[in-house]
Amino acid sequence: GHVTGSSDVCSSDLLIIPVRVNEYKLRTQNHNIPYTPDEIAETARACRAAGASIIHFHARNADGSPCHAPEVYAEIVAKIRERTDILVDSTLGQITVKEDENRLAHIRLMGQKSSTRPDFAAVDAGSTNLDAYDAGTKRFRTTDKVYENSTEPCLFLARGMTDAGVKPHLSVWTVPFLRMVDAFLDMGAIREPAYVQMVLCEGGIVGGHPCTVRGLEALVDFIPPGRRIEWTVACKEGNLFPVAGLALERGGPLAPGIGDYEYPELGCPSNEELVRRFAELGRAVGREPATTAEARAMLGIGR
Ligand code: ZN
Repeated sequence: GHVTGSSDVCSSDLLIIPVRVNEYKLRTQNHNIPYTPDEIAETARACRAAGASIIHFHARNADGSPCHAPEVYAEIVAKIRERTDILVDSTLGQITVKEDENRLAHIRLMGQKSSTRPDFAAVDAGSTNLDAYDAGTKRFRTTDKVYENSTEPCLFLARGMTDAGVKPHLSVWTVPFLRMVDAFLDMGAIREPAYVQMVLCEGGIVGGHPCTVRGLEALVDFIPPGRRIEWTVACKEGNLFPVAGLALERGGPLAPGIGDYEYPELGCPSNEELVRRFAELGRAVGREPATTAEARAMLGIGR
């Protein structure tokens, strides 16, 4: 283990490191991207050993295409649980919001047994445009990618997860998403501590804040006051290191992963190599990586 266990380390000093291992990245972008249940489970084990306490994954077919089969999601969780005690954060997959029942089908199946139940699943607390702008050609690469998450389905998903014993991981792309989280807490649709993941956007995606100190500060400034919120920060399509110092200083954990960005400037590392780098950054400022048990306590997750 990495934690000192000494009584002078209070829980807020600990660094929860969630790792985002694959999303829908391809091995042509980084050859370390895990696809199969065994590859994802082995990545989970290695990342836990490197200091991560949460793994976020997407089920994939052997050719790397998205997989939405509930049985495969259950198999992945079971295989992770066999190898490591890391907390498991599943996705709902990129199924349209019109299919809410489908989006919950795998959560319901996984939730039936403790061996296949994830600890978290993702729900995006709002909508935004995900089209990427290419400054080189002065064009948008796409012009129709609305990430549509209207309020009723978000509430349905958050409540359905809570009923299945799964804590919602609330993805936050812009300031209004944080206002939605506050409303959900206020109406009792989700419970404290809320687990919020700020998603910064690079690679031309203009629908989120940039991965800069100011981009992250704007979100941190709008974390609802008076609420218990554990937040993390990830970066879609860009290097997360530029905001690491600010995130560590403001108490937020970092959520690295080659699923979000392939890190060619670091030689396309594996997930565990990336986790190790962020764990070292944390230690350098006195924040040890949290163990799974410590992350559980901080996030209010029973078992
Ligand atoms: Zn994801």
